[in-house]
Amino acid sequence: MYCNACGRQIQDDANLCAYCGRTVGFAAPQRRLYRGVEGRKIGGVALGMAQYFGEDVTIVRLIWVLALLLTLPLAFFGYIICWIIIPEEPLRLPPAATNPAQL
Ligand SMILES: [Zn+2]
Repeated sequence: MYCNACGRQIQDDANLCAYCGRTVGFAAPQRRLYRGVEGRKIGGVALGMAQYFGEDVTIVRLIWVLALLLTLPLAFFGYIICWIIIPEEPLRLPPAATNPAQL
């Protein structure tokens, strides 16, 4: 494999070029914490956290419910604060139809 930035040969499984330090290969998509939109129950906080951590949304919701029952005011305000701070997931628009048969 060759570095796209400096053109030197580097290890095939390298993530960074050892010569110029650039990211090479498939750059990991940037993970961002968003409140989920599709399939949300209240504010999308649990859904967003589930997507971020790669967990089942049901587990995250159960944790929120347990936290609510155990630390009622704390978890409640925690949820509200998350709701305010975490941005809503940007809308994923369907790709524009390029096939004339679909129009
Ligand atoms: Zn390089």
